[in-house]
Amino acid sequence: MIIEDELTSAPLYRDVMRSLESSARIMNANKNVIERLRLPRRAIRVSIPVRMDDDRIQIFSGFRVQHNHTLGPFKGGIRYHPQVNMGEVAGLAALMTFKNSLLGLPLGGAKGGVQVDPAALSKSEIESLTRRFTSELSPFIGSDKDIPAPDVGTNEETMAWMLDTYALETGYSQMGIVTGKPIEIGGSQGRLSSTGLGLVHTMEKALEVKDTSIDRATIAIQGFGKVGLHACIEAHALGARVVAVSDISGAIYNPRGLNITDLIRYKDENRFIKDYPNAEPITNGELLELDVDVLAPCALDGVINEKNMHSIQAKIIAEGANGPTTFESSRYLNQKGVLVVPDILANGGGVVVSYFEWVQDVGWLFWTEKEVRTRLRNIMHGTFDKVWRLSEDPLFTDINKKNGKDLRLISMVSSLHRLEKAMKLRGQAW
Ligand code: GLU
Repeated sequence: MIIEDELTSAPLYRDVMRSLESSARIMNANKNVIERLRLPRRAIRVSIPVRMDDDRIQIFSGFRVQHNHTLGPFKGGIRYHPQVNMGEVAGLAALMTFKNSLLGLPLGGAKGGVQVDPAALSKSEIESLTRRFTSELSPFIGSDKDIPAPDVGTNEETMAWMLDTYALETGYSQMGIVTGKPIEIGGSQGRLSSTGLGLVHTMEKALEVKDTSIDRATIAIQGFGKVGLHACIEAHALGARVVAVSDISGAIYNPRGLNITDLIRYKDENRFIKDYPNAEPITNGELLELDVDVLAPCALDGVINEKNMHSIQAKIIAEGANGPTTFESSRYLNQKGVLVVPDILANGGGVVVSYFEWVQDVGWLFWTEKEVRTRLRNIMHGTFDKVWRLSEDPLFTDINKKNGKDLRLISMVSSLHRLEKAMKLRGQAW
């Protein structure tokens, strides 16, 4: 039995449920469908004993939540972070269901995580942890069952260990068991940059509807990891002026635009962006409040909230992270005229290319980087256009007047339309 209180104690889960309920009300969704989507189908909790380098045993808590698989196998990342808990993972798993549905992928939604600070562990400790976690999950995952991928705190290497452990458990190599793995063992061209690139594609569209374009835009990016770094590179390549970025060491600002190539070189040499000479230091909080065309929070959830929402000056917020803007602050900012491009749309590029990777794996195919990038661009632009068209539906006339075009709710309605149809066809709701 899944204990709802445990889930609702996580702010992210509560926010996801609030946007589910609000969009369900707007579209007058089938009650049975919503009832089924409120709780995950399965929530797995495991203990992961790890022999640490000093020979101590340390036990970590691991989670995998399989939210819904009406549209296809469960799909979603694995997060290593000290704040991971069942409620957060369940909220993130539900977001994957809605994201995959919105993007038109034949995939359901899941998410996993381990409560751990990966920076505090040695590489061999992380490998042991990953292998043991994968063994515990192995009865529940598989390339046509549930397909993990990287998320915060995990990467290609983590996926390679998962693939290898799963092969040891089952006795044969199944390349489609995880996505986001190294190219040499079945990964896809273009997967590393995919979330950042997809994010920039949604920025292009959002700027277009605001009657401007990416080559005239100023952008601030919170986070310089897997998502933020590639968003910087891709936006810069399209002529945008990236004026601020941040990592855990702090934030930097240069109103004339940062030289991204030089900044990457500096980070490679110094590990962090702190003290980068060609910019002024600012705080992470100040970065969020800059007067820019696009603000892209690409780190953790809840960074734009009731405390700082009144100080946000950006014209567009493109959610590179999952849940960076709370439900309340998102609504407030929309009413103020800020266009918030929600996570399930803005950061969908990662799972889109995961899907391409999986298609290549199960079909023993290899696509070129150009092919991957063209297909990604078509899906991202196409999905934005679909949401924008839906925003002009009479269903939203009054709400648009009252709240401004609320792309979070509109994207959710689009996603729910597909899920509702599929659940009825499968006899899961009536
Ligand atoms: N972790 C990414 C996300 O939140 C990618 C998930 C995947 O590729 O399965 O969308």
